[in-house]
Amino acid sequence: MISSGMIEFAGVPVWINRGNCKACDICVSVCPSGVLGMRYDPTSTLGAMISVDNPDSCIGCNDCELNCPDFAIYVASKEDLASVGKKFAKLTDDSKERQVKIISNNYMSLDLQGVK
Ligand code: SF4
Ligand code: SF4
Repeated sequence: MISSGMIEFAGVPVWINRGNCKACDICVSVCPSGVLGMRYDPTSTLGAMISVDNPDSCIGCNDCELNCPDFAIYVASKEDLASVGKKFAKLTDDSKERQVKIISNNYMSLDLQGVK
């Protein structure tokens, strides 16, 4: 998480600010662990919205937060996560394989396979 103290810990490994997300796919493309995906959302300006589909696979690398151009996705600190009895995952072969599938699915969530 950005350490300015201005972003409140949401009690989960990674979370989003829907108001800021421009559906650019960047965070999905950089996540190594298949945590994120895009979903169609008619209420969003671009018709899509980022979705945290597999928060339990988040390894806390911060790549999504660091690469988001719109300050729309945040990652917990280890300490904040520990304060609610949680910890980041390890990168597994399953997570890596899921990420490959998400990329192949045009960055869309895997339950939307083949619809984009
Ligand atoms: S990088 Fe940021 S703006 Fe782009 S899809 Fe992800 S959360 Fe939304
Ligand atoms: S912190 Fe890393 S593993 Fe977690 S969602 Fe962001 S990019 Fe993926």
